[in-house]
Amino acid sequence: MLNVYPISATVENWVHDAIYAKVKAGLKAFDQGNTAPDWSHEMRVELADREALKTAYNAFCTAVQELGPRQRGKILLALEAQNKIPDVFDGATACPRLDTLPARIRKPTKALFDAAFAMLKSLKVRDRQYEVIFAELPGRCCPFCGIEIFEAPGLAREDLDHYLPRTLYPFAGANLRNLAPMGGKCNRAYKNVADVICDGDGHRRRCFDPYGQERAEVSLMGSRPFEGGGAGPFPLPAWQIDFIGEAQAVATWDQVFDIRRRYEGKVSSHFREWMEHFADWCQREVGLIETQQEVVKALDRYITAVLQRTHGNGEHLKRAMFEMMRQRCEGGDISERLVLWFSNLVRSQRRMVEEPA
Ligand SMILES: [Zn+2]
Repeated sequence: MLNVYPISATVENWVHDAIYAKVKAGLKAFDQGNTAPDWSHEMRVELADREALKTAYNAFCTAVQELGPRQRGKILLALEAQNKIPDVFDGATACPRLDTLPARIRKPTKALFDAAFAMLKSLKVRDRQYEVIFAELPGRCCPFCGIEIFEAPGLAREDLDHYLPRTLYPFAGANLRNLAPMGGKCNRAYKNVADVICDGDGHRRRCFDPYGQERAEVSLMGSRPFEGGGAGPFPLPAWQIDFIGEAQAVATWDQVFDIRRRYEGKVSSHFREWMEHFADWCQREVGLIETQQEVVKALDRYITAVLQRTHGNGEHLKRAMFEMMRQRCEGGDISERLVLWFSNLVRSQRRMVEEPA
Protein backbone atom coordinates (compact mmCIF):
# COMPACT_ATOMS: atom_id res chain seq x y z
CA MET A 1 0.00 0.00 0.00
CA LEU A 2 1.07 3.56 -0.66
CA ASN A 3 0.16 5.17 2.65
CA VAL A 4 -0.72 4.00 6.14
CA TYR A 5 -3.23 5.14 8.73
CA PRO A 6 -2.30 6.83 12.01
CA ILE A 7 -2.37 4.37 14.90
CA SER A 8 -4.16 7.06 16.92
CA ALA A 9 -7.28 6.23 14.88
CA THR A 10 -7.50 2.88 16.69
CA VAL A 11 -7.42 4.06 20.32
CA GLU A 12 -11.19 4.01 20.77
CA ASN A 13 -11.26 0.21 20.63
CA TRP A 14 -13.49 -0.32 23.67
CA VAL A 15 -16.34 -2.10 21.86
CA HIS A 16 -13.91 -4.78 20.74
CA ASP A 17 -12.13 -4.84 24.12
CA ALA A 18 -15.40 -5.31 26.02
CA ILE A 19 -16.67 -8.16 23.85
CA TYR A 20 -13.28 -9.83 23.67
CA ALA A 21 -13.04 -9.80 27.48
CA LYS A 22 -16.60 -11.12 27.85
CA VAL A 23 -16.06 -14.02 25.45
CA LYS A 24 -12.79 -14.90 27.15
CA ALA A 25 -14.44 -14.82 30.57
CA GLY A 26 -17.21 -17.09 29.27
CA LEU A 27 -14.74 -19.67 27.94
CA LYS A 28 -12.75 -19.63 31.19
CA ALA A 29 -15.90 -20.01 33.29
CA PHE A 30 -16.90 -23.16 31.43
CA ASP A 31 -13.42 -24.57 31.96
CA GLN A 32 -13.83 -24.11 35.70
CA GLY A 33 -17.21 -25.84 35.63
CA ASN A 34 -19.14 -22.60 36.11
CA THR A 35 -21.78 -20.95 33.96
CA ALA A 36 -20.79 -18.07 31.71
CA PRO A 37 -21.19 -14.59 33.23
CA ASP A 38 -24.34 -12.68 32.25
CA TRP A 39 -23.99 -10.29 29.35
CA SER A 40 -24.69 -7.23 31.45
CA HIS A 41 -22.35 -8.26 34.31
CA GLU A 42 -19.58 -5.64 34.53
CA MET A 43 -20.36 -4.59 30.96
CA ARG A 44 -19.78 -1.09 29.56
CA VAL A 45 -22.97 0.86 30.09
CA GLU A 46 -23.28 1.68 26.36
CA LEU A 47 -23.40 -2.05 25.55
CA ALA A 48 -25.10 -3.56 28.60
CA ASP A 49 -28.67 -3.23 27.35
CA ARG A 50 -28.09 -3.91 23.66
CA GLU A 51 -30.49 -6.77 22.91
CA ALA A 52 -28.82 -7.82 19.64
CA LEU A 53 -25.48 -8.28 21.38
CA LYS A 54 -26.99 -9.99 24.39
CA THR A 55 -28.91 -12.47 22.22
CA ALA A 56 -25.84 -13.20 20.10
CA TYR A 57 -23.67 -13.67 23.21
CA ASN A 58 -26.19 -16.06 24.77
CA ALA A 59 -26.35 -18.11 21.56
CA PHE A 60 -22.55 -18.24 21.51
CA CYS A 61 -22.44 -19.44 25.14
CA THR A 62 -25.08 -22.10 24.50
CA ALA A 63 -23.02 -23.47 21.61
CA VAL A 64 -19.78 -23.38 23.62
CA GLN A 65 -21.38 -25.12 26.59
CA GLU A 66 -21.97 -28.24 24.52
CA LEU A 67 -18.29 -28.58 23.63
CA GLY A 68 -15.52 -30.39 25.43
CA PRO A 69 -12.52 -28.65 27.05
CA ARG A 70 -10.19 -29.41 24.13
CA GLN A 71 -12.54 -27.81 21.65
CA ARG A 72 -13.08 -24.82 23.91
CA GLY A 73 -9.31 -24.49 24.10
CA LYS A 74 -9.16 -24.22 20.32
CA ILE A 75 -11.74 -21.45 20.39
CA LEU A 76 -9.79 -19.49 22.99
CA LEU A 77 -6.64 -19.90 20.93
CA ALA A 78 -8.39 -18.62 17.79
CA LEU A 79 -9.88 -15.68 19.69
CA GLU A 80 -6.42 -14.63 20.85
CA ALA A 81 -4.55 -15.41 17.63
CA GLN A 82 -6.94 -13.59 15.30
CA ASN A 83 -6.44 -10.45 17.37
CA LYS A 84 -2.63 -10.64 17.49
CA ILE A 85 -2.35 -7.65 15.20
CA PRO A 86 0.09 -6.76 13.70
CA ASP A 87 1.98 -10.02 14.51
CA VAL A 88 -0.26 -12.08 12.21
CA PHE A 89 0.72 -9.92 9.23
CA ASP A 90 4.30 -11.26 9.43
CA GLY A 91 3.51 -14.39 7.41
CA ALA A 92 4.42 -16.82 10.20
CA THR A 93 2.49 -16.14 13.43
CA ALA A 94 -0.18 -18.82 13.80
CA CYS A 95 -3.71 -17.67 13.05
CA PRO A 96 -6.35 -20.43 12.86
CA ARG A 97 -9.32 -19.73 10.62
CA LEU A 98 -12.96 -20.15 11.58
CA ASP A 99 -13.24 -23.36 9.56
CA THR A 100 -10.75 -25.09 11.89
CA LEU A 101 -13.18 -24.68 14.81
CA PRO A 102 -16.09 -26.99 15.69
CA ALA A 103 -18.90 -26.57 13.15
CA ARG A 104 -21.60 -25.67 15.68
CA ILE A 105 -19.65 -22.66 16.99
CA ARG A 106 -19.01 -21.00 13.62
CA LYS A 107 -22.37 -19.37 13.01
CA PRO A 108 -22.83 -18.00 16.55
CA THR A 109 -19.26 -16.65 16.53
CA LYS A 110 -19.82 -14.79 13.29
CA ALA A 111 -23.18 -13.48 14.45
CA LEU A 112 -21.74 -12.16 17.73
CA PHE A 113 -18.89 -10.25 16.12
CA ASP A 114 -21.09 -9.01 13.28
CA ALA A 115 -23.39 -7.54 15.95
CA ALA A 116 -20.32 -5.97 17.58
CA PHE A 117 -19.25 -4.47 14.25
CA ALA A 118 -22.74 -2.99 13.79
CA MET A 119 -22.30 -1.24 17.16
CA LEU A 120 -19.34 0.72 15.80
CA LYS A 121 -21.69 2.43 13.39
CA SER A 122 -24.56 3.11 15.78
CA LEU A 123 -22.18 4.36 18.49
CA LYS A 124 -20.38 6.52 15.89
CA VAL A 125 -17.01 4.98 16.79
CA ARG A 126 -16.54 4.29 13.11
CA ASP A 127 -17.12 7.93 12.17
CA ARG A 128 -14.64 9.17 14.77
CA GLN A 129 -12.05 6.68 13.53
CA TYR A 130 -12.56 7.97 9.99
CA GLU A 131 -12.24 11.62 11.03
CA VAL A 132 -8.80 10.97 12.55
CA ILE A 133 -7.72 9.04 9.45
CA PHE A 134 -9.04 11.56 6.94
CA ALA A 135 -7.33 14.48 8.69
CA GLU A 136 -3.91 12.88 8.26
CA LEU A 137 -4.29 11.00 5.00
CA PRO A 138 -2.01 12.29 2.21
CA GLY A 139 -3.99 13.09 -0.92
CA ARG A 140 -7.28 12.20 0.83
CA CYS A 141 -7.49 9.03 -1.18
CA CYS A 142 -7.55 5.27 -0.79
CA PRO A 143 -4.03 4.28 0.35
CA PHE A 144 -4.40 0.84 -1.20
CA CYS A 145 -4.55 2.17 -4.78
CA GLY A 146 -3.87 5.94 -4.70
CA ILE A 147 -6.64 6.39 -7.25
CA GLU A 148 -9.99 6.41 -5.41
CA ILE A 149 -10.69 9.77 -3.79
CA PHE A 150 -12.19 9.65 -0.27
CA GLU A 151 -15.21 11.74 0.71
CA ALA A 152 -14.85 14.16 3.62
CA PRO A 153 -16.26 13.06 7.00
CA GLY A 154 -20.01 13.63 7.19
CA LEU A 155 -20.58 12.80 3.51
CA ALA A 156 -21.31 9.33 2.12
CA ARG A 157 -19.23 6.82 4.10
CA GLU A 158 -16.34 4.99 2.48
CA ASP A 159 -16.24 1.22 2.88
CA LEU A 160 -14.74 -0.05 6.10
CA ASP A 161 -12.86 -3.16 5.13
CA HIS A 162 -12.28 -6.13 7.42
CA TYR A 163 -8.62 -6.47 6.48
CA LEU A 164 -8.61 -9.99 7.93
CA PRO A 165 -11.95 -11.04 6.38
CA ARG A 166 -14.66 -11.66 8.93
CA THR A 167 -15.80 -14.81 7.14
CA LEU A 168 -12.44 -16.39 8.06
CA TYR A 169 -11.31 -14.45 11.13
CA PRO A 170 -14.54 -13.28 12.81
CA PHE A 171 -12.95 -12.72 16.24
CA ALA A 172 -11.23 -9.63 14.78
CA GLY A 173 -14.53 -8.45 13.31
CA ALA A 174 -14.91 -5.37 15.51
CA ASN A 175 -11.23 -4.72 16.24
CA LEU A 176 -10.37 -1.24 14.92
CA ARG A 177 -6.84 -2.49 14.33
CA ASN A 178 -8.32 -4.76 11.67
CA LEU A 179 -10.71 -2.21 10.15
CA ALA A 180 -9.43 -0.13 7.28
CA PRO A 181 -11.35 2.54 5.37
CA MET A 182 -11.00 1.56 1.73
CA GLY A 183 -12.26 2.73 -1.65
CA GLY A 184 -15.27 0.78 -2.95
CA LYS A 185 -13.40 -0.59 -5.97
CA CYS A 186 -10.47 -1.86 -3.91
CA ASN A 187 -12.82 -3.38 -1.37
CA ARG A 188 -15.60 -4.90 -3.44
CA ALA A 189 -14.24 -5.36 -6.97
CA TYR A 190 -10.71 -6.47 -6.12
CA LYS A 191 -10.08 -7.57 -2.53
CA ASN A 192 -13.54 -8.89 -1.73
CA VAL A 193 -13.04 -11.81 0.72
CA ALA A 194 -9.40 -12.51 -0.22
CA ASP A 195 -7.29 -13.74 2.65
CA VAL A 196 -4.40 -11.28 3.02
CA ILE A 197 -2.37 -13.59 5.28
CA CYS A 198 -2.84 -16.81 3.31
CA ASP A 199 -2.57 -17.42 -0.45
CA GLY A 200 -4.90 -19.55 -2.57
CA ASP A 201 -2.80 -22.68 -1.90
CA GLY A 202 -3.05 -22.24 1.85
CA HIS A 203 0.48 -20.91 2.32
CA ARG A 204 0.96 -18.12 4.80
CA ARG A 205 2.17 -14.81 3.39
CA ARG A 206 3.27 -11.40 4.57
CA CYS A 207 1.10 -8.36 4.04
CA PHE A 208 1.20 -4.66 4.81
CA ASP A 209 -0.21 -3.43 8.12
CA PRO A 210 -2.70 -0.61 7.37
CA TYR A 211 -1.71 1.05 10.65
CA GLY A 212 2.00 0.17 10.42
CA GLN A 213 5.07 1.89 9.04
CA GLU A 214 5.95 0.07 5.83
CA ARG A 215 4.62 1.19 2.48
CA ALA A 216 5.41 0.87 -1.19
CA GLU A 217 6.49 3.27 -3.92
CA VAL A 218 5.95 2.96 -7.63
CA SER A 219 8.55 3.42 -10.36
CA LEU A 220 8.00 3.49 -14.12
CA MET A 221 11.70 4.05 -14.85
CA GLY A 222 12.06 0.74 -16.69
CA SER A 223 9.37 1.64 -19.24
CA ARG A 224 10.30 2.01 -22.93
CA PRO A 225 8.76 4.94 -24.85
CA PHE A 226 7.29 4.19 -28.33
CA GLU A 227 7.37 0.41 -27.76
CA GLY A 228 3.94 -0.18 -26.26
CA GLY A 229 1.92 -0.15 -29.46
CA GLY A 230 -0.83 2.17 -30.59
CA ALA A 231 -0.62 4.14 -33.81
CA GLY A 232 -1.01 7.90 -34.38
CA PRO A 233 0.71 10.79 -32.67
CA PHE A 234 0.60 9.25 -29.16
CA PRO A 235 2.25 5.79 -29.26
CA LEU A 236 2.30 4.26 -25.79
CA PRO A 237 5.45 3.30 -23.94
CA ALA A 238 5.88 -0.38 -23.08
CA TRP A 239 5.14 -0.05 -19.40
CA GLN A 240 7.31 -1.54 -16.72
CA ILE A 241 5.70 -0.99 -13.35
CA ASP A 242 8.08 -1.65 -10.46
CA PHE A 243 7.25 -1.55 -6.78
CA ILE A 244 9.79 -0.49 -4.21
CA GLY A 245 9.17 -1.93 -0.76
CA GLU A 246 9.29 -5.17 1.23
CA ALA A 247 9.03 -7.77 -1.55
CA GLN A 248 6.57 -10.22 0.04
CA ALA A 249 4.20 -7.57 1.36
CA VAL A 250 4.32 -5.87 -2.03
CA ALA A 251 3.52 -9.16 -3.80
CA THR A 252 0.48 -9.75 -1.56
CA TRP A 253 -0.73 -6.18 -2.09
CA ASP A 254 -0.36 -6.49 -5.86
CA GLN A 255 -2.07 -9.89 -5.94
CA VAL A 256 -5.00 -8.94 -3.68
CA PHE A 257 -5.72 -5.56 -5.28
CA ASP A 258 -4.55 -6.34 -8.84
CA ILE A 259 -2.42 -3.21 -8.61
CA ARG A 260 -0.05 -3.67 -11.55
CA ARG A 261 -2.85 -4.34 -14.03
CA ARG A 262 -4.91 -1.41 -12.74
CA TYR A 263 -1.90 0.93 -12.97
CA GLU A 264 -1.20 -0.19 -16.51
CA GLY A 265 -4.80 0.58 -17.41
CA LYS A 266 -4.56 3.97 -15.74
CA VAL A 267 -1.33 5.13 -17.41
CA SER A 268 -2.37 3.80 -20.83
CA SER A 269 -5.79 5.42 -20.80
CA HIS A 270 -4.49 8.77 -19.52
CA PHE A 271 -1.25 8.94 -21.51
CA ARG A 272 -2.58 11.19 -24.26
CA GLU A 273 -4.45 13.52 -21.90
CA TRP A 274 -1.37 13.87 -19.66
CA MET A 275 0.88 14.63 -22.62
CA GLU A 276 -1.52 17.18 -24.06
CA HIS A 277 -1.69 18.91 -20.69
CA PHE A 278 2.08 19.16 -20.61
CA ALA A 279 2.20 20.49 -24.17
CA ASP A 280 -0.40 23.13 -23.45
CA TRP A 281 1.34 24.21 -20.25
CA CYS A 282 4.72 24.25 -21.99
CA GLN A 283 3.69 26.41 -24.95
CA ARG A 284 2.15 28.96 -22.57
CA GLU A 285 4.71 28.98 -19.74
CA VAL A 286 7.97 28.05 -21.47
CA GLY A 287 7.41 28.47 -25.21
CA LEU A 288 8.72 26.17 -27.91
CA ILE A 289 11.36 23.65 -26.87
CA GLU A 290 13.90 22.62 -29.50
CA THR A 291 17.08 21.25 -27.95
CA GLN A 292 17.59 18.34 -25.60
CA GLN A 293 18.54 20.79 -22.86
CA GLU A 294 15.34 22.79 -23.37
CA VAL A 295 13.13 19.69 -23.33
CA VAL A 296 14.72 18.31 -20.15
CA LYS A 297 14.52 21.70 -18.45
CA ALA A 298 10.84 22.10 -19.37
CA LEU A 299 10.03 18.61 -18.06
CA ASP A 300 11.93 19.38 -14.86
CA ARG A 301 9.94 22.54 -14.35
CA TYR A 302 6.65 20.80 -15.08
CA ILE A 303 7.43 17.99 -12.61
CA THR A 304 8.45 20.41 -9.88
CA ALA A 305 5.95 23.19 -10.36
CA VAL A 306 2.84 21.48 -11.69
CA LEU A 307 2.73 17.82 -10.69
CA GLN A 308 1.59 16.86 -7.21
CA ARG A 309 3.93 15.05 -4.90
CA THR A 310 0.98 13.36 -3.23
CA HIS A 311 -1.45 10.60 -4.22
CA GLY A 312 -5.03 10.89 -5.38
CA ASN A 313 -6.61 9.99 -8.69
CA GLY A 314 -3.36 8.42 -9.89
CA GLU A 315 -1.24 11.58 -9.46
CA HIS A 316 1.65 9.41 -8.30
CA LEU A 317 1.55 7.51 -11.61
CA LYS A 318 1.51 10.70 -13.64
CA ARG A 319 4.56 11.94 -11.80
CA ALA A 320 6.37 8.60 -12.16
CA MET A 321 5.57 8.61 -15.89
CA PHE A 322 6.98 12.13 -16.44
CA GLU A 323 10.06 11.29 -14.38
CA MET A 324 10.66 8.31 -16.67
CA MET A 325 10.15 10.42 -19.82
CA ARG A 326 12.52 13.05 -18.49
CA GLN A 327 15.20 10.44 -17.82
CA ARG A 328 14.76 8.93 -21.29
CA CYS A 329 15.21 12.38 -22.86
CA GLU A 330 18.39 13.01 -20.91
CA GLY A 331 20.27 9.99 -22.21
CA GLY A 332 20.13 6.55 -23.76
CA ASP A 333 19.33 5.09 -27.13
CA ILE A 334 16.01 6.81 -27.72
CA SER A 335 16.73 10.25 -26.26
CA GLU A 336 17.11 11.91 -29.68
CA ARG A 337 13.82 10.51 -30.96
CA LEU A 338 11.97 11.40 -27.75
CA VAL A 339 13.33 14.95 -27.64
CA LEU A 340 12.13 15.47 -31.22
CA TRP A 341 8.73 14.01 -30.31
CA PHE A 342 8.32 16.43 -27.37
CA SER A 343 9.50 19.33 -29.50
CA ASN A 344 6.90 18.53 -32.18
CA LEU A 345 4.19 17.95 -29.60
CA VAL A 346 4.61 21.43 -28.13
CA ARG A 347 4.89 23.02 -31.60
CA SER A 348 1.65 21.44 -32.79
CA GLN A 349 -0.07 22.52 -29.60
CA ARG A 350 1.09 26.10 -30.24
CA ARG A 351 -0.30 25.88 -33.80
CA MET A 352 -3.64 24.68 -32.50
CA VAL A 353 -3.85 27.64 -30.15
CA GLU A 354 -2.85 30.15 -32.83
CA GLU A 355 -5.09 28.74 -35.54
CA PRO A 356 -8.15 27.28 -33.84
CA ALA A 357 -10.07 24.93 -36.12
ZN1 LIG B 1 -8.56 1.94 -3.66
